[in-house]
Amino acid sequence: MQHPQVVVDMTKLKHNLTYLSQYLQAKGIKVAAVTKVLGAYPELSALYDSIDSIDYLADSRLDNFKHYPKQSTKEKIQLRIPMLSEVDQLVQTVDISLNSQIETIRAINQAARKFNTSHQIILMIDLGDLREGVFETQEIDQYVQEIIQLDSVKLLGLGVNLTCYGAIIPEYSILEQLIQHKQRLEHTFDLTLDIISGGNSSSLYLLDEGGEGIPAGINMLRIGEAFVLGVETAYGKKIDNMHQDVFTLQAEIIEYRDKPSLPIGKVGQDAFGQKPTFVDKGLMKRGIVAIGKQDVDVSNITPRDSRVEIIGASSDHLILDFSQASQDYHLGDTVAFDVSYGSLLNVFTSPYVKKTFIN
Ligand SMILES: *Cc1c(COP(=O)(O)O)cnc(C)c1O
Repeated sequence: MQHPQVVVDMTKLKHNLTYLSQYLQAKGIKVAAVTKVLGAYPELSALYDSIDSIDYLADSRLDNFKHYPKQSTKEKIQLRIPMLSEVDQLVQTVDISLNSQIETIRAINQAARKFNTSHQIILMIDLGDLREGVFETQEIDQYVQEIIQLDSVKLLGLGVNLTCYGAIIPEYSILEQLIQHKQRLEHTFDLTLDIISGGNSSSLYLLDEGGEGIPAGINMLRIGEAFVLGVETAYGKKIDNMHQDVFTLQAEIIEYRDKPSLPIGKVGQDAFGQKPTFVDKGLMKRGIVAIGKQDVDVSNITPRDSRVEIIGASSDHLILDFSQASQDYHLGDTVAFDVSYGSLLNVFTSPYVKKTFIN
């Protein structure tokens, strides 16, 4: 077996995908399943594509759509605001994109005309998180007025993204503003906006039992993290009936022996230019596993054996304290880690981490 590896439990992932998408479908919410944290890995994209209650497949990078199954019939959404330089590829690759710049929308229209196709856009409104989106109401109206004149672009609806830059919680009153924009625009321009996309995994908490609910009219969510890690992301709470351990990162022990906890000699700077400090805990059972900062942000992984502690890392080595471990470990054993969103992103992007799929 090749290490390090990330092991994906496909049965658990399939359960998460089915469970949450059916739950949202029952509430009248269409689901755009986001594959970017997995680099749209082909085996995983195929699983996402096979789930009937998932309506759309979404990713932030055009290159990732190449990994989707060729025969997929679901509509594809590009999440990141397109680059002016990629509009030709955009209109040939996806059906829908999220947009916030009129110059880019004009370029998309020209590209769609050039390739004899049409393209749908969701206009992003910034409701305070301050990542993407049109900010001023007057500008939103000007944009819509122009977009509806374009011959090869269709305005599918409005969207918002929250809890990304500003960590703003999608409160009921914030999402209501999106509905107010929808109603004003439909009235002013005599049009129908089919899709109101009310955010990502951080909007899920609104649907909790006894919660405020999601404002009527929000009819799409774009869900990435909740599917893979089984958590909502406004408060980081586990979602009942979903698996939080779909992914296991495994690394192999390459050195294992008793050593002191305090380095010996004059302290300079470590491999990353930091001056480390140490606590003297006496003699420790220390091990090195073959994974490092080049593979993963080690502050974002947690040993599944909660009595094993990460004490340091360099590019290719992770040093663990096994003194309190709940089982015996040996050279050549593997150590299992839970991953968070950031480390999942890392390991799926790293060519050094093998991807293994189990059922
Ligand atoms: C990444 C992303 C999502 C998915 O977010 P999760 O928190 O993983 O659910 C949704 N919308 C946009 C615009 C994104 O960039």
